[in-house]
Amino acid sequence: EPAIIPVSSHGITRDRLSSGSRRTCETLQAEGFKAYVVGGAVRDLLIGADPKDFDIATDATPEEVRRAFRRSRIIGRRFQIVHVMMGQETLEVTTFRGTLDANTKTDEHGRVLHDNVFGSQAEDAARRDFTANALYYDPTTETVIDYHHGVGDLKARTLRMIGEPRARYREDPVRMLRAVRLAAKLGLAIDPEAKKPIREMAELLENVPAARLFDEMLKLLTSGHSVKCITQLRDEGLHHGLLPMLDVILEQPMGEKFVMAALANTDERVRRGKGTSPGFLFATLLWHEVLAHWDKMKAKGEAKIPALFQAMDTVLDVQGEKLAITRRIAGDIKDIWALQPRFEQRAGKRPYALLEQPRFRAGYDFLLLRAQAGEIDTEVADWWTHFQNAEGDKRAEMLIPEA
Ligand code: ATP
Ligand code: MG
Repeated sequence: EPAIIPVSSHGITRDRLSSGSRRTCETLQAEGFKAYVVGGAVRDLLIGADPKDFDIATDATPEEVRRAFRRSRIIGRRFQIVHVMMGQETLEVTTFRGTLDANTKTDEHGRVLHDNVFGSQAEDAARRDFTANALYYDPTTETVIDYHHGVGDLKARTLRMIGEPRARYREDPVRMLRAVRLAAKLGLAIDPEAKKPIREMAELLENVPAARLFDEMLKLLTSGHSVKCITQLRDEGLHHGLLPMLDVILEQPMGEKFVMAALANTDERVRRGKGTSPGFLFATLLWHEVLAHWDKMKAKGEAKIPALFQAMDTVLDVQGEKLAITRRIAGDIKDIWALQPRFEQRAGKRPYALLEQPRFRAGYDFLLLRAQAGEIDTEVADWWTHFQNAEGDKRAEMLIPEA
């Protein structure tokens, strides 16, 4: 039997929810269904953080949910969910999932491929990954329904796996990454039982589709705690399977310095509520690999710029096998890299043309990081800082004729 925790004990009143999530639950309940806010949002509210989004769990089928809301649509994917649009908000509404059984399709390593069986709320709770993620909040009664002692674990600042951790990682190896990310983001300790098997099971990540890994890496890198996450990934031996080069990069001192500076910079931006660009992030993570290939191509006698473009393609191709970097993001990454040699040209009309480049800002920010990490002379970065801020005449005086 789940614990039913009253508002007098947990303190979360319904006005802490988004209006869309409240209305969605109320509408479903009015039609006789169960409906709760579930998962990350409840967890975040309990530890006093602002939820990113609100997910709803219900015993209504996707078709029933769709009929209950005019502005809604069923989304395919691994498991059918319904997107309900409420004003500016989009709510993800999921039907309770059933227990995995002998009929569940898995790959040869035990990774679950399809799970589209509906179940009871208790079964749904048992299917979630961590106890802190298996909490249901009912906006009508303001109670939290807790099947797996999640509230107690959160109070004890522990991230505990529901069920047997090894079995749960085998079903879905991405849970290892989620453990690291959520622990870093929420300031929780991973329970030793869940932490121990990670190192030896890390290689199961090789088996996860590249698109899924990319999504999870992106979440991790934009969590506002990427330095902590990457450091912990390395401590847990998880960086090998992820970015094939991340281990190489982090092992060369210059590469590590650059990546860490970039991540610290991103964390700072995220925490101040400024946007981050995935292209910029991946450009930094892979830059030292590009530099290495670029040197190789030049040593083979290739001219500077063609050598750079070949190095860029090589790095993105190798990376793509592991991490499905989307086409658009790959384009952004290349733009940033391709601009770098152009910052060396400080004569004639070229610096003016570079300022007009739509991607100038990202390229310049990237240049600053390279200077900060000691890869290039800070003089070049400083020059560009002054040049873009200088008045017309002063700009002309700054130009450096080619030697
Ligand atoms: P975030 O703050 O990043 O959104 P979250 O816990 O809400 O964290 P989501 O990916 O939004 O993460 O997932 C919502 C909920 O779905 C989780 O809280 C958890 O209950 C469940 N869930 C997500 N991924 C898994 C998984 N791989 N295995 C089991 N349950 C999962
Ligand atoms: Mg979430």
